[in-house]
Amino acid sequence: MHTKRSHDLFVHAQELIPGGVNSPVRACRNVHADPLFIADAKGSHLTTADGDDVIDFLGSWGPMLVGHAHPAVTEAICKAAARGTSYGAPCEDEVRLAEEVCSALPSVEMVRMVNSGTEATMSALRLARGVTGRDKMIKFIGGYHGHGDAFLASAGSGVATFSIPGTPGVPAATVADTLLAPYNDLGAVKELFEAWPDQIAALFVEPVAGNMGLILPQPGFLRGLRELCSKYGALLVFDEVITGFRLSYGGAQGRFDIMPDLTTFGKIIGGGLPVGAYGGRADLMRHIAPEGEVYQAGTLSGNPLAMAAGLATLNILKHADYDALEARVHAFVEELQEILREKGVPVQIPHIASLFTVYFTEAPLMDFASVQTTDQKLFETFYKQMREQGIFMAPSAFEANMLSFAHSDEDFARALDAARNVKF
Ligand SMILES: *Cc1c(COP(=O)(O)O)cnc(C)c1O
Repeated sequence: MHTKRSHDLFVHAQELIPGGVNSPVRACRNVHADPLFIADAKGSHLTTADGDDVIDFLGSWGPMLVGHAHPAVTEAICKAAARGTSYGAPCEDEVRLAEEVCSALPSVEMVRMVNSGTEATMSALRLARGVTGRDKMIKFIGGYHGHGDAFLASAGSGVATFSIPGTPGVPAATVADTLLAPYNDLGAVKELFEAWPDQIAALFVEPVAGNMGLILPQPGFLRGLRELCSKYGALLVFDEVITGFRLSYGGAQGRFDIMPDLTTFGKIIGGGLPVGAYGGRADLMRHIAPEGEVYQAGTLSGNPLAMAAGLATLNILKHADYDALEARVHAFVEELQEILREKGVPVQIPHIASLFTVYFTEAPLMDFASVQTTDQKLFETFYKQMREQGIFMAPSAFEANMLSFAHSDEDFARALDAARNVKF
């Protein structure tokens, strides 16, 4: 692996951009590595700024489910660009994308486009508060819903009910209404509802947790959340920014057969361009301005380029064989786990659909606390040696790898060969 050009760019970038990156995880600090700068991407492969070819297991953190620079998506973007890049007035593709999203997910009767997942969750929270007239919100420890103030809460002193700002710059008052519970802990959620029976506007959950590494919901967990929210009059919000159109064409909710009240999207629905969306029951969505009084707006929302990329992507996914991809990922993950186990390291690799995380532990993984006990040193060793051999994986033990329909059997075989060479 050549890194001179990446290194030079990174040194220069650090003088101009905080940490040299426009989103913190890209800096690879968790694994004490410098980032690789990317110059080109096609299908399942990336070309680094130094000209090396690597197999991409990260998929731009989620959007690239059909692979990079898919010809149909590229063509749609180019054609749209030639028709102008922003109108400040509605266009037909906004209606078509809304129709596609609404028909894919029965719980989504109306949808509003925004420009990022962060905007989607912030807007959904405002809507939930506006509609219910309540201020409190429940989220799970280690769950990520973008960088909106209210969501950046950490657990204080191990108590499920006490939250503190997770970053300087967020006033304590802003997270005072953010209630925290451990993922997969229905009992903790029940206690919160019992403590504030008529004050909780919404519960936000990643139906499959993808931002503390990949953690699967225990059987009955999501259904239990649905029941508690209904009982206490709180809105159940599925944050499907990762899982939407990835766990199945109907998202996690289609796969687990749960109807949330609101859903947030991002990543895949933008086809690699900056898009987010939130949608749900029409009686709720009609409260958004200008039909209702809950204000939310955006100069570039529903941007024609982004709508074209999203539509082209969904068009491909609609006819894609999700089961076949999942079966291939399953076989790959099983073999990877076997290879690593034979090296004598404790390892487990939870996976679903095209997502997986390599955790170095044998302890059961249920929530953020259990993920934090995994062996970081082993992960760093694994990550660095895989990358050195051209396998570009999620650069943190707390992130998920995101595979695509473009990954070939040869890509998987090369990754397995690389894993065989890793020395712990
Ligand atoms: C990435 C992510 C977000 C934030 O989306 P951005 O487009 O990065 O703002 C929100 N929720 C989940 C579950 C995510 O994975």
